[in-house]
Amino acid sequence: MNNEKKFCRNSIWALAQEAEADIQKILLAIRQGAELNHYKVLSAFKEMEVSDYHFNESTGYGYGDTGRDLLDQLYARVFGAEAGLVRPQIVSGTHAIALCFYGLLRPGDDVLFVTGQPYDTFLQVMGGGPLNRRGDGSLADWGITSRVIPLDSEGKPDYSAIAEGITPATKMVAIQRSRGYDLRPSLSINDIEQLIGIVKQVKPELVCFVDNCYGEFVEDREPCQVGADLVAGSLIKNPGGGIAPSGGYVVGKEELIQKVANRLTAPGLGSELGCSLGGKRLYYQGLFLAPLVVAEALQGAVLAARLMSGLGFKVSPHWEEKRTDIIQAIVFNSPERLVAFCQGLQQGSPVDSYITPEASPMPGYEDRVIMAGGSFIQGSSIELSADGPLREPYAAYLQGGLSYPYIKAGLLTALEQMAKQGLISI
Ligand SMILES: *Cc1c(COP(=O)(O)O)cnc(C)c1O
Repeated sequence: MNNEKKFCRNSIWALAQEAEADIQKILLAIRQGAELNHYKVLSAFKEMEVSDYHFNESTGYGYGDTGRDLLDQLYARVFGAEAGLVRPQIVSGTHAIALCFYGLLRPGDDVLFVTGQPYDTFLQVMGGGPLNRRGDGSLADWGITSRVIPLDSEGKPDYSAIAEGITPATKMVAIQRSRGYDLRPSLSINDIEQLIGIVKQVKPELVCFVDNCYGEFVEDREPCQVGADLVAGSLIKNPGGGIAPSGGYVVGKEELIQKVANRLTAPGLGSELGCSLGGKRLYYQGLFLAPLVVAEALQGAVLAARLMSGLGFKVSPHWEEKRTDIIQAIVFNSPERLVAFCQGLQQGSPVDSYITPEASPMPGYEDRVIMAGGSFIQGSSIELSADGPLREPYAAYLQGGLSYPYIKAGLLTALEQMAKQGLISI
């Protein structure tokens, strides 16, 4: 028994070595990209003259909270925007994105989702679907129409359908950078640049919004630097660096950020209220480290792609493909393999390693979903995590990981579990 286990472990580590030999050049390129992004963040810190008094907490209304205001400016600088709004009071990525819609759109306005069906949690925000009740405050409830232009057969934006879809009522175009939990390819910054160019040709005054979740610091430019007017994301993903304990951010044009801030607080209060109850250092420190943490996650994703494709599974993106988000999809084609992989990954976690995740119903999803992730920060997906809806083609979406060695160990633990159950042969 003992011998068998040892043999199994040895061959799995040998497998990892083989995979790693193939990906060395790619890992190096990722680390070089991270260095540039890290310097970009460092120089913003220096220009803004960040000091330790900015980390002080404020209470009550939070008037004159210079650390909060400076963090807004720091994000704006790093993301190439005029202004920023970075708050623990923004509870999630979905909240940050919804604030942008509610802040800018008015009854009778129309928003066009130009990169296919948006992220799952957004369907209820849009409203009008089977999950919605009248009176629940969705965009539809406010008389704001939202339409989706599907991607073309190659998973790319359908430019002619988009141009035709823009009407006099269309105020905003929404672009999702990451694949989310879909097998479509992610949008590169070049793709976003091209898309915005085309949209603005049709109607220059349109607001181009980008859901930047999972994309921050993967490339050397960010959406505002290629024409996006407003960009939002979550602080428990890339830009929080695994250290920010909660929150969301919005960056973009000054006048738009003011409208979003008025929606977050109240008209007239805008971004001048909102205290920081301790822990502000964590937002600064997280941003500072974020490019490096993103690089760890990316390197882990490349290893996962190489390992899993070597074992015969379809992966997206391919290990050699250029990346623009941190998500790695692995297609298992069987519920048993999907579940075993996620359970094994959980066993490799620093937190809650002894818990066995099971597929269960989730609000907003039609199918049961299995979620693995033993993270320090609840639900953090810049930490190593995998999720998969229990439906064809039984794909797991793997992302995050604070260190490459830990991601590697997690993957090998998962493979060991699968091998033990006879679901793969090594
Ligand atoms: C994570 C994510 C969101 C928002 O998710 P929250 O769980 O609300 O933070 C939105 N869009 C995409 C593409 C995402 O990956």
